[in-house]
Amino acid sequence: MKISNSDERFHILEPETKVWDVIREVTDTEQEDAFYVCDMGDIVRKHKIWKATLPRVVPHYAVKCNDSLTVLEVLAALGTSFDCASKSEINKVLSLGVEPNRIIFANPAKMKSHIRHAASVGVMTMTFDNELELEKVKEHHPDANMVIRIRCDATDAQCPLGIKFGCDPVTEAPLLLNKASTLGINVVGVSFHVGSGCREPDVFRRAISASRDVFNMARQVGFNFNLLDIGGGYPGGRMETLDEIAKVINLALETYFPDPEVQVIAEPGRFYVSSAYTLACNIHSIRHVKKFNANGESSEHRMYYINDGVYGSFNCILYDHQVVVPKPLKDYSGGQSCSSSIWGPTCDGLDQVIEEASLPDMKEGDWVVFEDMGAYTLPVASTFNGFPIPKVHVVANESIWMLFKDLLAFTDEHFAMGSIPYNHNCGCMMKMNDSIDFSLSSISTITI
Ligand code: PLP
Repeated sequence: MKISNSDERFHILEPETKVWDVIREVTDTEQEDAFYVCDMGDIVRKHKIWKATLPRVVPHYAVKCNDSLTVLEVLAALGTSFDCASKSEINKVLSLGVEPNRIIFANPAKMKSHIRHAASVGVMTMTFDNELELEKVKEHHPDANMVIRIRCDATDAQCPLGIKFGCDPVTEAPLLLNKASTLGINVVGVSFHVGSGCREPDVFRRAISASRDVFNMARQVGFNFNLLDIGGGYPGGRMETLDEIAKVINLALETYFPDPEVQVIAEPGRFYVSSAYTLACNIHSIRHVKKFNANGESSEHRMYYINDGVYGSFNCILYDHQVVVPKPLKDYSGGQSCSSSIWGPTCDGLDQVIEEASLPDMKEGDWVVFEDMGAYTLPVASTFNGFPIPKVHVVANESIWMLFKDLLAFTDEHFAMGSIPYNHNCGCMMKMNDSIDFSLSSISTITI
């Protein structure tokens, strides 16, 4: 099996080298295009946090959030399972050598051909929230283990999902369970998704309690549920923590699901990848304009044009309702700040990254850095107007590298000198040759 990751370059870092050092080093070269730095160690750190904070909950990483092969390989090696939403996501995960029993097909509204594909490759666990889905499953994947998705919305979430998916646990769930029983379909558990970027921890208590009621309901219909899927919604930013949500979940599991026979899984997306990715963008144009307030008074305003926008990485502003924070790469301390806006490179007026911020007097060619850019950015980005999607520089310090190097099966010949010098003494930078494939030699997992 060969996997080509042509948009990613790999660097092994000396101890104490930080992501911002890498950005400085890359921008010191002829680099003009926007680029990402992905810190592999940050993904490992997140997995450690998950295991320590939610020990009973088996993470099934939501591939949709960031389907980079490096991310998927690292997570596969760490032993996570996966939440796939389509045939092609399933294939991508299977191509890493992951067993189909580590995949949940967690899209309640699936195309028939995708259901048939799941059956043919042995992906047995799938979600549903409507009758037609059960009929399709009966016809195309009759031996599947189905998970009923219920609706329970957070009062505050970055991206609510209940408007689209999830049956009502009181009025609709009993009807669907009866229908499944009549069709002879095996239903094994309950799932929910409280909303992505959940800002109301207590919703997990309500959702887990509602799931308990559906478990009890199912017993009356003749099912013996043994799977609880607590979905996604966990924060992933560098300044955010899982603690509060985990406290609510752990207590609710103890209260409503004390039986250890019930397997508890989750579908975290942004938690694993958000903080691992940092984006650096180049300012290529600047306009100095006057801005007028309601009283007709004018003030100075600067418009900065950067080489990634809402049709590229910053689609997360439109689709994921993300608030992005610009940080100049250069140190401007002591300098004056001014009312500013930041715009993407396309010819569309919609392509605005920051409407208003107080920023220093930056020059053409300067760089602006955006942290926490790993979730719902790259997989959605387009090349509209001919602007490229930023390439990714994957970095790992030596200890992380030692952990993964055998599993990722790199050898010296996988690396070539590039624009960034290979230098063991200052950053040990390596550039991966675009044309060289790499693969997981085996799917053995790492214990951290
Ligand atoms: N599971 C499902 C079914 C989803 O639709 C999503 C996101 O849309 C996720 C998991 C991941 O959610 P998050 O990134 O909030 O953890």
